[in-house]
Amino acid sequence: MSWNSVIGQRRVKELLRRTIENGQIPHAYLFHGIEGAGQDAAAFEFARVLNCERQALEACETCSSCKKSELLSHPNINLIFRLPVGKGETKDDSPFEKLSDEQMSDVREQLSQKAGNPYHEISVPKANFIKINSIREIRRAASMSSFERGKKVFIVCDAEHMNAESGNSLLKTLEEPPANTILILTTSQKSKLLTTILSRCQPVQFDPVEESDLRDALVAKDGVEVAQAAIVARLANGSYKVARELLARDWIQERQEAVDFLRIILSAQRINLSMAIERLSSLHDRNSLERWLKVLQSWVRDALVVRESGSAGFVDTATDAAVDNFVKKFPRANLLSALDAVDRHIALLSKNVYIPLVLTNLAIDLKNHLAETST
Ligand SMILES: [Zn+2]
Repeated sequence: MSWNSVIGQRRVKELLRRTIENGQIPHAYLFHGIEGAGQDAAAFEFARVLNCERQALEACETCSSCKKSELLSHPNINLIFRLPVGKGETKDDSPFEKLSDEQMSDVREQLSQKAGNPYHEISVPKANFIKINSIREIRRAASMSSFERGKKVFIVCDAEHMNAESGNSLLKTLEEPPANTILILTTSQKSKLLTTILSRCQPVQFDPVEESDLRDALVAKDGVEVAQAAIVARLANGSYKVARELLARDWIQERQEAVDFLRIILSAQRINLSMAIERLSSLHDRNSLERWLKVLQSWVRDALVVRESGSAGFVDTATDAAVDNFVKKFPRANLLSALDAVDRHIALLSKNVYIPLVLTNLAIDLKNHLAETST
């Protein structure tokens, strides 16, 4: 694994390596960026390197400390994440104390997935927030003498899920940080954290993962073919998590649906169009519709490539014919304006505009741009 477990993020890795080298490690970090950019993965690797018996800039991967941290069972590396509230649980209980056997087995299963893939989002049923019990546990665990060398690292995954109580408790810990302890908060929603917490953490910004890095990771880690990996990487917008979700979804089918939608728009059959809009609106929430619109956008972009340079080097053979036909039939389609129109409507989705309205307006715009035949 070593730093390779973190996809891309060269600047961040360099920064963390330099910090380890000069030994000036802050008490608390905030790793922030879009979801799936690798905040948790970097936090694990950082914790691992700090605890490796070789004390170098890379984890050796062979010492007993590295072996334990690989399985997320290292006593110095503590993950804090959303948990259900156990039956009869009080604030003084340890976070796992009152969970049922079934809940504990869910937790263990999730942790084993996280150990295998640090980009996995831990999700335990009925776990709605990070409990105060988990935050209190930090101080208790930090005060116990560590029986191994290295540093105690507490990683608060998706820290935006702390409720007010947990946030205030964490703030107290940040104000008087326990010795030889590092706290790493990871988040994709920095704005949801208390400003008093933010001001006590060293921020490290994670940029979206570059497309080529995502593509290579999909090939190397997920065994995806290069051509398919290239398309998925393009649609994933810098998030390995989204890329994996796309792999799990039938995106070839979604691409076909996008082609069908364009066909209906251009055929000017209003009844079909309103049925299609109704169907899409019921099928998708805002997030999944945004991704679907990006699939549609990638199809339009492919049409642009085919028109400019022919189908040579074009990767998605499954829909070549549809793209070719479209380019022949609508040689003057204003594809760049169509791409812009999709972008604008994706922006409307995040502004809570009513979904069927977004799709209707988009259909009108796309028709204007794509069916353009005048010179
Ligand atoms: Zn090691």
